[in-house]
Amino acid sequence: MKISEILAKRRLTLSFEVFPPKEDSGLDSVMSCTDELARHGPDFVSVTYGAGGGTSSNTVKIASHLLDSGVTPIAHLTCLSSTKGEVHRIVDELKGRGIVNVLALRGDRPKDPAFVPPGDYRYASDLVADVKSRGDFCVGGACYPEGHPESGSKDADLDNLRRKVDAGCDFLTTQMFFDNNMLYSFLYRAQAKGITVPVLAGIMPVSNGSQLKRMVALSNAYLPPKFLALVDRFGDKPEAMKQAGIAYATEQIIDLVANGVRGIHIYAMNKSDVVSRIVGNVSEILAEAR
Ligand code: FAD
Repeated sequence: MKISEILAKRRLTLSFEVFPPKEDSGLDSVMSCTDELARHGPDFVSVTYGAGGGTSSNTVKIASHLLDSGVTPIAHLTCLSSTKGEVHRIVDELKGRGIVNVLALRGDRPKDPAFVPPGDYRYASDLVADVKSRGDFCVGGACYPEGHPESGSKDADLDNLRRKVDAGCDFLTTQMFFDNNMLYSFLYRAQAKGITVPVLAGIMPVSNGSQLKRMVALSNAYLPPKFLALVDRFGDKPEAMKQAGIAYATEQIIDLVANGVRGIHIYAMNKSDVVSRIVGNVSEILAEAR
């Protein structure tokens, strides 16, 4: 089913994100993780894509496994480092397998300064239009409540986001954020720019301190003092940090649902136990709000 159709029916969606293993040997464990996640009745599960396409076949395999298990999948797809031919091959394979949802992304620039992109795609908006032209897909895009790290200003980033939506994005999923006010302010500004597609809130449960440093370097997210205090205190105590991270994500979700967001998208990081505990904490709230 298309996510746009699910969004039209649901007041609030619940979704999870998993990533493919680097080696094929890790595939079974990701499949088991998706089976565990399926028990929570998500509206869909998204499967990320290696920026250079290195894990693309596993993205398709996991998305197909989800579909076979009765869960709506969405396959991520990046474009900056790929040729049109490579992208079309994957889009056609998704179509052949009955996967009708694609999250269209530019992808990060490779770190190698000598890398020259093929140049077929510059921005995600190019991919959005291209995927739409190859079939009857529901296409989502990424958005950044605190601004994309490469953009000159939040305002310019929103103008670019508007271009991406105009290219055919049916919905947006946010980058992680740890202060809900960042999302609320973004939603007001996006609306003022005429961006009216549903925006799903991306929640990252932080379950270990070193993971946090990596993620924040990538995302530029503001870390509120309350959040920093618990990372300072428990960052090197894995079980305590996990519990604190679950509690923090739970609190964020309760506040987001109370304030009427359209969707909660949990970055599961292939940790079904963490997702189970969060969803257990908010089961009645989700049941009431969905
Ligand atoms: P774009 O929308 O193209 O934006 C990139 C930059 O270009 C922004 O600064 C934007 O303001 C600017 N821009 C856009 N259009 C224009 C224009 N017309 N003119 C001038 N500037 C413009 N990465 C992966 O490799 N695999 C994944 O599976 C993956 N999944 C993700 C899922 C989510 C929900 C999010 C938030 C990110 C994900 N990423 C993933 C990371 C993403 O690829 C990077 O953040 C990347 O740097 C930007 O991708 P984008 O699709 O947002 O790019």
